[in-house]
Amino acid sequence: MPVYRPYLGAEVQQAAHRALAAGWLGMGPLTRQFEEGIESFLGLSGRRAVSTNSCTEALHLAGQLIGLGPGDEVICPAFTYVAGHQAISRTGADVVLCDVDDTGLGIDPARVAELVTERTRAILAVDYLGLPCRLDELVELARRHDLRVIEDAAHAFGSRSDGRPIGSFGDITCFSFGPVKMITTLEGGAIITPDPADVQALHELRHLGINADTDARYRSQRNWEFDVVRQGYRCHLGSVPAAIGIAQLDLVDEFIRNRQDYCRRYDDGLRDLGEHLTFFDTDWKDVAPYIYVLRLRDGSQRPALIRHLADQGIATGIHFLGAHEFSFYAGSRRGPLPVTEAVTQQVLTLPLHPYMDDGVVDRVIRAVHAFWEA
Ligand SMILES: *Cc1c(COP(=O)(O)O)cnc(C)c1O
Repeated sequence: MPVYRPYLGAEVQQAAHRALAAGWLGMGPLTRQFEEGIESFLGLSGRRAVSTNSCTEALHLAGQLIGLGPGDEVICPAFTYVAGHQAISRTGADVVLCDVDDTGLGIDPARVAELVTERTRAILAVDYLGLPCRLDELVELARRHDLRVIEDAAHAFGSRSDGRPIGSFGDITCFSFGPVKMITTLEGGAIITPDPADVQALHELRHLGINADTDARYRSQRNWEFDVVRQGYRCHLGSVPAAIGIAQLDLVDEFIRNRQDYCRRYDDGLRDLGEHLTFFDTDWKDVAPYIYVLRLRDGSQRPALIRHLADQGIATGIHFLGAHEFSFYAGSRRGPLPVTEAVTQQVLTLPLHPYMDDGVVDRVIRAVHAFWEA
């Protein structure tokens, strides 16, 4: 049983087929239609979604949009996927590694405050497994120091914080529609900013610095005369991925409901192992869970638990390693990382899919029990 299993059923395949048959493969009307779908799903008013070919590229565009470059620093959680760190370091800015809080495993605002210097330009915040990070505190801290907040919401498409969908508030938000995320466009992402003026800049950044291309493409036209107004990249979303995304958006409410239900069943079935496990403080009602993560009290038991589950055909994952352990970031400035050091040994990701057959969650629960009862 795999950790991930994306849903690619008949309606998704038909959508891809139709887009292929239409023959307009590049960015086009379906790209805009997918963005409108994201805007309506997130209930955005005034904000626009700009799609990209990955979340990594969305994060990189966010860095370009706010003008990151050599000499700048961005305070990032050490405990997140390296895509975030790579997107920042690619701009030339330095990654500064910060600890996470012990509860939700998002970047800890108090630890961020200790790391701010005159070189700091931004904070990278991550909504771990779909749990909203402490964005309001981070935005407030950022306001005091004139910083931006880039929210890596790759795990949190559909999560809410105080009733507000992630992406509908805060500063810059990036989503992932990669192969294993809540919805997939095979590869894809989106960036959302509060400033409508950013949309034009993002369109230019997304497509080779070309100034007047996007609106024509959204009407199935191409402008053969154009100006190039800045250094851009090539990370737009094509029509076939967009069509897959539109079909996935039709199903996302069900994906979320199912995943929430499976997470509650995991919690209920494992709760009596409190001697060995700790649980995240959520009833999943407002969380669109991307993964289900066990947190062991004693991280030294993790390798044996991984082997025990693998022996029963149950795959597991580790989200995440600490970035300070990677050769490329070992020299990065950093604060103390006690929570990161501990939690990177403790976390273990169990299978979570949009549709899991009856009994699958129970089988995993029994297998985890058996590890400690043996
Ligand atoms: C998946 C992921 C990304 C990267 O998303 P892509 O769309 O694969 O580029 C970034 N950050 C986190 C936390 C992720 O899990």
